[in-house]
Amino acid sequence: MTSHSLSSLLLFSCNFLANAILRKRTYEDLFGHRVQTGWECGGCKYRGAPPPQWESMLEINITNAGRNLHIDQYIKRHFEGEIVEAKCSEPGCAAGGKYQKRRNKRTFLAGPEILLLELGRFEADLYGRVKKVKGHVGYDMTLDLTEYQATAKARREDKLLYKLVSVVFHGGELKGGHYKGVFTCPDGVMYVNDGSAQRASDRDLLQAPKDFQAYLLVYVRV
Ligand SMILES: [Zn+2]
Repeated sequence: MTSHSLSSLLLFSCNFLANAILRKRTYEDLFGHRVQTGWECGGCKYRGAPPPQWESMLEINITNAGRNLHIDQYIKRHFEGEIVEAKCSEPGCAAGGKYQKRRNKRTFLAGPEILLLELGRFEADLYGRVKKVKGHVGYDMTLDLTEYQATAKARREDKLLYKLVSVVFHGGELKGGHYKGVFTCPDGVMYVNDGSAQRASDRDLLQAPKDFQAYLLVYVRV
């Protein structure tokens, strides 16, 4: 199963669950979050902000994983955004008409109740061949995303604190492989592999099976 079809399957399953079981809540209520991408002009300090985007998953690119980075560092890089070159069109801007580098920062306008954090383990080599990045990425039972709230008021009063409840691991290559998962259920933490399920513990959420890598982290807001 490719990661794209896994995403589609997850989306379908979550919509089904939200409608069929939770009834009053929609998929968007549970997993949706709004992200604002913004930049500031170096010439006139104009703050540009295109319309916010609605996202159902936080997709974090994992590259240079050989350095054994922690997910916090990848998340930081994700929210710092990309550097782009653009012109400012504000009237009277000192930098007007000239291309300048600016950073498209991301911030949360609204954080999700359930955070689906997908580790994008794709990297193209010099010849454009896309390969899976298999390096280890550290993560913890708790996650604090408060610093990425859009406003100072939100950063102060609306903490985005999460607890890890489930992890999907992937073993193999991009075009083929196998998934295993550790899920928190009403009965406790379970280790699931194809048709079999056995008891596990919180520790198993943090420990990938041999030759497997964490692919999807599921956090709930606390
Ligand atoms: Zn400007």
